[in-house]
Amino acid sequence: MIKKCDGCQIQDGSLKVNGGFIYESKHFNVVQDFMIPIPGFMIIASKRHMRSVDEFTEEEHKEFSTFLYEVRKAMRDVLDIQNVYLIQEEDSGHFHMWLLPMYDWMKKGIANARKNINYARDNMNTEENMKEVNKCIQKLKEYFIG
Ligand SMILES: [Zn+2]
Repeated sequence: MIKKCDGCQIQDGSLKVNGGFIYESKHFNVVQDFMIPIPGFMIIASKRHMRSVDEFTEEEHKEFSTFLYEVRKAMRDVLDIQNVYLIQEEDSGHFHMWLLPMYDWMKKGIANARKNINYARDNMNTEENMKEVNKCIQKLKEYFIG
């Protein structure tokens, strides 16, 4: 049997992520990045295995723009995140888009995005910061429940 990709395992629930799904639509859902402890660092993923936006069905591509809008708006309205970088790597396997919040401690520019992420991975896995990460997950869940 062929092993499912990580993205498919998250979608079918066999790979658990911290906080679980924050919000979902018919074809997409969003989680807090479970490797990187940056509060409000969101990952939108497709439920179906694909790599690129040009593989979206018509229904998926219409739904995606609304979904992206809703998640970005929630980041601003609930978490007061003023600046976000959107990143999607088509060579990473299962379709997912990073919504990386930019905080004051981060170096600006897409060339620094990976450095900022690595800094958080190596230095921010503290009890206090994880409380903040989890608080953001809860606030977003409450917002989407409405
Ligand atoms: Zn997959």
